[in-house]
Amino acid sequence: MLNKLAWKEIDLSSLFHNFSILKDKVGKNVEIIPVVKADAYGHGARVISKFLAGKGVKNFAVAIIEEGIELRNHGIEGRILVLSPQFLDSIPYLVNYNLIPVVSSLEFLSALGKYVLSKNIEFPFHLGIDTGMGREGLMLEDLDKALKIIEKYPSLKLEGLSSHLSSSEDKFDIYNEKQGEIFERAYNKLKKLGYNIFCHFANTGAIFNFPKFYYHGVRPGIALYGYGDDNLIPVMSVKARITLIKEVPKDWGIGYNHTYITRSPTLIAIIPMGYADGYRRDFSNRACVIIKNKLFPVIGRVSMDQFVVDISSDPSIKIGDLVIILGRSGDLSIDAEKLSSLANTIPYEILTAFGMAKRLGCIYKYEEKILSEVTLY
Ligand SMILES: *Cc1c(COP(=O)(O)O)cnc(C)c1O
Repeated sequence: MLNKLAWKEIDLSSLFHNFSILKDKVGKNVEIIPVVKADAYGHGARVISKFLAGKGVKNFAVAIIEEGIELRNHGIEGRILVLSPQFLDSIPYLVNYNLIPVVSSLEFLSALGKYVLSKNIEFPFHLGIDTGMGREGLMLEDLDKALKIIEKYPSLKLEGLSSHLSSSEDKFDIYNEKQGEIFERAYNKLKKLGYNIFCHFANTGAIFNFPKFYYHGVRPGIALYGYGDDNLIPVMSVKARITLIKEVPKDWGIGYNHTYITRSPTLIAIIPMGYADGYRRDFSNRACVIIKNKLFPVIGRVSMDQFVVDISSDPSIKIGDLVIILGRSGDLSIDAEKLSSLANTIPYEILTAFGMAKRLGCIYKYEEKILSEVTLY
């Protein structure tokens, strides 16, 4: 049953707006590879990918094989890149589901070569280079060894080269330049050897800060969902309905451990959502919500299933009234950037936390209309 007390709303019109901004920005010769890992940053990978595929997108990127298989099982036909390192025993699944690994190790490359040789098939893959992210990818020193393995297994088709920036949101961090130089070295080596390579390097930060890193494709994640530039529109809203209103006296402790004590008689509203739904405990006594176009403060600790708001300033508020937890109303807005600053984190973590909250309902909208599951798939 859909949870009607607290839910997410995913606005596909905003997604399309963001996608169009990105397209304009990178130009028509650069492919957009939407990153739909972690259930499309909590927005629902199936729906997001289907929608974008309908707008002509042919490439997608996920973190792990299971995410790729989910997309294949729901009719996504384009290229699906698997960005993170996978175990060797996942190779048959990559091949069966036609998922393209970004290879991070010589060991994986050899195993892939052996497998495709034994099956007598050609198989495309991309090489990932660690240019300074210090995470996935081959070290540049291992590129020659990788090329030897590729020569040994002619059915391995090296189609792409990729890397990832560690500090792309910082235009002035010289580390980006250093990573760019290492990427160029790898690319030049492959070009000299006659490989016709599809290069992709830029995530959201680089799309807005480093046009020279566009190459043939870009991998935006957070920008699609509305963060990283002022022209983008947040795609996810989170809403709830007030389940209880009551007046408590002066000096009344609110919630666990009484981290808030009323200074006068106070009208409180209970919001049926808590940290189990992605509304973090860090928001206790810090965040606000929007009710009837006004802001009201969260008081006391956020608990697992609910939190409390002081609505004394508007006695006309009733049980069942709509509460905007993340989203806009008139001139007011609470976005994931704001919430993340209250919790010493980044919008990515706020969005994925709401996204992974199973108990929340989820509604998809397009051009102001609510889409049913049937229209979606
Ligand atoms: C997550 C991820 C991205 C997308 O990053 P954003 O900052 O959300 O645009 C791109 N590339 C790789 C390798 C990633 O892991």
